Amino acid sequence: MIPTKSYAALSKHTQLEPYSFERRDLRADDVHVHIRYCGVCHSDLHQARDEWGGSMYPMVPGHEIVGEVVAVGSSVTRFAPGDWVGVGVMVDSCCNCESCNRDLEQYCDDGMTGTYNGLERDGKTLAQGGYSSDIVVKDRFVVSISRSLNMAAVAPLLCAGITTYSPLRFAGVTAGMKVGVVGLGGLGHMGVKFAASFGAEVTVISTSPSKEADAKRLGASRFLLSTDKEAVKNHARYFDVILDTVSADHNYTGYLDMLTVEGKLLIVGLPSKTPEISPFSLIAKRRIIIGSMIGGMKETQEMLDYCAEHQIVSDVEVISIQYINDAYQRMLRSDVKYRFVIDLATL
Ligand code: NAP
Ligand code: ZN
Repeated sequence: MIPTKSYAALSKHTQLEPYSFERRDLRADDVHVHIRYCGVCHSDLHQARDEWGGSMYPMVPGHEIVGEVVAVGSSVTRFAPGDWVGVGVMVDSCCNCESCNRDLEQYCDDGMTGTYNGLERDGKTLAQGGYSSDIVVKDRFVVSISRSLNMAAVAPLLCAGITTYSPLRFAGVTAGMKVGVVGLGGLGHMGVKFAASFGAEVTVISTSPSKEADAKRLGASRFLLSTDKEAVKNHARYFDVILDTVSADHNYTGYLDMLTVEGKLLIVGLPSKTPEISPFSLIAKRRIIIGSMIGGMKETQEMLDYCAEHQIVSDVEVISIQYINDAYQRMLRSDVKYRFVIDLATL
C-alpha cells in the first residue's frame, strides 16, 4: 500500500484538516501519480458541505489533479515514470456499455466512478481525491500534459476546462456566433477563453461589476451586468448560445429569453435547488436546453492538446494546502481570480 498525506473533511460541519490514508498497490493497468498541483472546484465545496446530499466522509476533495508519474503497472504502455499527467473528475467506469464505447465514460450506464465522494468499483473502497500527495488510477482515466504549459495553470483544465470545452463544442460554437457566459468564476473564465478562441463574439453576464476589465482581458468583447434590468432587456433574443456556470440558486428563464430562435442554453452550474423554467419562454422561439457533465477521456485529451497548441491555461492563484478553508470562504464571496490551485509541496 502507498502511504498518502492529504486534507479531508471529516463531516459536513467541520473544516478540512490533515488526514493520512493508503492508496492501493498498483494493478496491471494502474498509474501511480505523485500529485504536484490540484485545482479547487466549487463542486469540492458543494460536496464537502453535503449541499447535494449523500456525501461520504472522510472526504478528500479534489478533481483537478496534475503531477508526475512515479510507476506504472505491467500492462501500461501509454505512460512512463517522469511523464506529466492529469486526472480529472472520474477515475473509472464500466468501460463496456454503449456510452463508454462512444468515449462518453462520464455518462456510463452503470455510473462513472467519481474521483472522490463515492465508492470505487469494488463496492467498498472510498475514492479519495487530489488534495493529497499521491493517487493510483486506471490508465484509461489518465491524460498526458504538454511540458510547454505551466503545470499549476493546467490543473483547472481537468474539470473547469473540459466542462466548458465539451458543451461549447457540442453546441457547435464557431466564428461569428454570439455566446454569453454567465458567471465569471473558475468554469466561466475557461468558457470565455474557449468561446473566444473558437472565434465567437463573447459577452460575460455577471453579478460583479468589478470583473468587467478582467472579462475583456480574458477574451470577451462585451460585459453585461445581470442586475441591470434595462441592459438585460436590451439583450432579448440576442445570443445563439448561453453557457450557465452559476453555482448558486438562480432563475434560468431570464437567460432563456436572451436566446434567439433555436438558441441553446448550456447548463453546467449545479445549484442545489431545482429551478423553475417557463415553458412559454422555451416554446416561443424553439429554444433548447442542454445539460452537460465534464467530458469523456478522449475529448479531455483533445482539449488538453488544443490548449497546448493555442497556449490556453487557467488564470490561477496558487495557494498552500493550509489556506484551503479560507479559499472556500472566498469562493463563496465570488472572490476567485479565477481558480485556486493548491501546491501539494506544502502538504
Ligand atoms: P465559482 O468559481 O465559484 O464561480 C461561480 C460564479 O457564479 C461566481 O464567480 C459568480 O460569478 C457566479 N455567482 C455566484 N453566486 C451567484 C448568484 N447568487 N447569482 C448569480 N451568479 C452567481 O464556481 P465554479 O468552480 O466555476 O463552478 C460553478 C458551478 O459549476 C458549480 O455549481 C459547480 O458545482 C458546477 N460544476 C459542474 C460541472 C459539470 O460537469 N457540469 C463541473 C464542475 C463544476 P459573477 O461574480 O461573475 O457573477
Ligand atoms: Zn470540478
